Amino acid sequence: MTRYRNMDHRPATTSWARSTPGMEYDGFYLHTAVVQESGPHYKYYKQLSRASSNRNATRQIVAHFRCHNCSHTWHTGQLCVQLFLASNDRYRTILHAQQCQGCEAYVEPQVDEENYVKKIVGALDLWTNRRERQEPMFDRKTTGPHDEERCHGCQIGICSR
Ligand SMILES: [Zn+2]
Ligand SMILES: [Zn+2]
Repeated sequence: MTRYRNMDHRPATTSWARSTPGMEYDGFYLHTAVVQESGPHYKYYKQLSRASSNRNATRQIVAHFRCHNCSHTWHTGQLCVQLFLASNDRYRTILHAQQCQGCEAYVEPQVDEENYVKKIVGALDLWTNRRERQEPMFDRKTTGPHDEERCHGCQIGICSR
């Protein structure tokens, strides 16, 4: 019976993954592209959360959307991406879905990898003192007003727009 007792007392290892299905997407699949740009020092750490990180911020990334429900497509320069950094170059990103204007479904973003890598590595390098701050730090692409009502990042109050 001890075995079961141990299981009861196991730490809640899944608590980090409490991202809302369909509304938040882990950026792990983009880590390969980050490493290609930055070199191998940054480690993707899926357990990282806002609470356990030393630095956190949101970045606006270029992305494309195609609704799985009604096939409506749109483009944004303002995809809300959360970035967390902890000790020893560990980082994590969370991509926030946007809602379709046609049917209100939450749609997974198709990230512009080049833009993502540039902004994420840029922020990490700045935070870890690998580069000096430059002005202007990031290009501000104008793609029309941000649809705050349909941005999941805005809905939970973490979008910087
Ligand atoms: Zn739709
Ligand atoms: Zn937003």
